[in-house]
Formats: sequence, structure tokens, C-alpha cells
Amino acid sequence: MRSQLDGRIRDNLDELSSRKLLKDEQEIASPQSTHIHLRALGERELLNMCANNYLGLANHPALVRAAHAGLERHGFGMSSVRFICGTHSVHRALEIRLSSYLRTEDTILFGSCFDANTGLFEALLEADDAVISDSLNHASIIDGIRLCKAKRFRYANNDMNELEHALREASHCRTVLVVTDGVFSMDGTSANLPGICELAKRYGALIMVDDSHAVGFVGPEGRGTPARYGVEDQIDILTGTLGKALGGASGGYVSGRSEIISWLRQRARPYLFSNSLMPAICEASLAAIDLAEKADDLRQNLSARTRQLRQGLSGLGFQVLGNDHPIVPVMTGDAGVALGIAESLLAHDILVVPFSYPVVPQGAARIRMQVSAAHCADDIERVIAAFQLARPHVVRS
Ligand SMILES: *Cc1c(COP(=O)(O)O)cnc(C)c1O
Repeated sequence: MRSQLDGRIRDNLDELSSRKLLKDEQEIASPQSTHIHLRALGERELLNMCANNYLGLANHPALVRAAHAGLERHGFGMSSVRFICGTHSVHRALEIRLSSYLRTEDTILFGSCFDANTGLFEALLEADDAVISDSLNHASIIDGIRLCKAKRFRYANNDMNELEHALREASHCRTVLVVTDGVFSMDGTSANLPGICELAKRYGALIMVDDSHAVGFVGPEGRGTPARYGVEDQIDILTGTLGKALGGASGGYVSGRSEIISWLRQRARPYLFSNSLMPAICEASLAAIDLAEKADDLRQNLSARTRQLRQGLSGLGFQVLGNDHPIVPVMTGDAGVALGIAESLLAHDILVVPFSYPVVPQGAARIRMQVSAAHCADDIERVIAAFQLARPHVVRS
């Protein structure tokens, strides 16, 4: 029998649908790549502009080989959390490799970066402490902060005056942790890490950076946003994902000083109560880090293609957020307009996704594209040409 709850949900879904806010999942019927097939569209090959596949490693032969070899050698699953009997040698090998790559003392793996962020704050901070968070931080950081008893402060995105104000208000607290995404995923902008570091130092606060949208391709050797700004040694806690540039399968981590990492192994609930990562994923992630560290050629192509797309769209009069990150958000404001552009691009065999409330604020709908090192100049030219044709939907001049 259907309950009152089912009826309420049905009404909510109908309302979303009538406002064109319902998220429709497209089934991909090929490996993840810059060129893909959708089940619904059969043989039509689509140019994919919306994966987090920044280095094009998601279906890279070296990763596929490493995962195969990992499956053969280590089997399929671990059927245990880490502390019971779920720690395989390859987990420690990957933790040590991530630490050497990120130049930290130690690293702890989680099933995802979402898990890393939801486990971290509760384990490290108590009621006497404070956490100060950027308003555009990822949902997993927001949820993680909700789970801890520390006092909470929020500052407007990258607003150093508001951050300083919060630091002053929190100055009586025992430990103060400033928390920011390295790159804000909806805007394609970087955190002002030099500014944050300077303020944190002045007020004796610690810094945590979630570098999920940077690790592997931003900064020297792809070591991320702190490396880009030369402030690696001032970041106390780094989190990140294996689910984006570094192969795109799954897994997340927290990296930092050994005391912090050791304590998380004792107390982080998603680590203690959730299964350990599939060993084959760890083998492929080791291969991904080896590739990423040396991938200056891929990073060069990624920034050239990003520049090409950003300049092309700006030249057509579109409002594009950010400066140089491969996240390229094209603002439409209206959710229906974003949807119209996405449909128009799909007619030209280009896959983009419109983002609207609640993923972005009301009235700030956008098409968010993501460039990959595996895109070529012709791919980007096609996107720009398709936007030009879709322009009547958007630019009112
Ligand atoms: C994608 C992302 C996450 C979540 O990573 P998963 O490993 O997919 O859970 C967390 N934080 C930020 C900033 C992200 O962009």
C-alpha cells in the first residue's frame, strides 16, 4: 500500500518536473572518454564535455592494465573494513605513494572523498574548537562540519575580510581550522590560498584544503592548488579524490602530519565502519599517480584547450566564470535557458549538462563544461561553433 510519504514525494517530483528541474540520468554505453555513446542514442557518437576526466586517464590503457593485474593478483574484494582484516599491502603502498606525491607525512584512504570529508571534522574537533568554512565549499564538507561539535563560522566565497572577521570571533577557541575547496567546482575558481595562509598564520589557525578538482593537473607535477601557489608547507590537512583526474574510479584520502592521520585511523567513522577500497582500484591509482606526476604534456594540452574554449566563448559574448581552470561555467541565469542550450548542443552531438537549483543558487543556472587533456583543438572548435548557433537562446543584445 502506498503511504502518505509516497504521495508527498510524487507531488515533489511532479513539481520538479514541471519546473524542468528534474535530473535525468543519461545511460552511457561505452567506456568513459571524450567521445562516448549513450544507450538512448545508439550509434551516435557524442563529444563529452562534462566528465571530471581532466587528464583523460579514465580509460587509459596503463590504468586498465594495472587494474587487470591487480584483479589477477589480489582478487576482487576485501570483505572487511581496514582494521579487521581489510588492509591489503596495496592500500599501504597507495597511502605511501600519495604522501610522497603530495609531500606530506602520511595519508589515509577512504571509500570516497565524500567519506573523507564527513569523517574528518568529528574526529579532530571538539566543542572547544572552531571551524571556519568558505560558503562555496563542497556538500561533503558542509555535511562533515554538521557532524562535529566545534563552533561553526562561514565566510563569503574567497572574502578575506569576512574570513578575518571570523578568525577574530573564533580567537578564544582552542583549535581553529579554516576549511576551503582548492578549486570551487561550480565556478571553476581557485581559493585564495596565499591570502588564507597569511591570515591563518596571523591568527594561529590551521588550514584544510579539499583539492578534489585540482590534484593531478593543477600546479607543478599536478600536485594541486597549494603547490600552484607555493604554499604546500602551510597546509595542515589535504583531502582529495581518486574519482576525478586520477583515473576516475573511486576512493578518497586525507593527507597530512602523521599524528592527524594516525588519529583518523582510530576515530574517523567512515574509515572504521565502511569497507576498504577494492585492491584493483589501488593498483590503477598507483599507475595514475605515476602518469600524472610526469604528465606535463597532458597538462599543457589541457591548459591550451581550456584557453581555446574560454576565449572562444567569451568572444561570442557568453559570460564565462573563472580564469584558467578546465571547469568552464557558461552562465545563463535561467534554468530553462540552460536546458535549451544543452538540447541544442545535443542536436550537434555534444554532451553538456545544465546545472540549476539546488546544485547552484536560484537564478544562477549555467552550463558547466569540463575540458580534458584528451580533447583536441577540433573538439573545442566544434563546441564553440555549437554555442554560436545556440546563442539566440541566451545572449539578449
Ligand atoms: C567530487 C568532490 C568530492 C567527492 O569526491 P568523491 O570521491 O566522489 O566522493 C569532495 N569534495 C570536492 C571538492 C569534490 O569536488
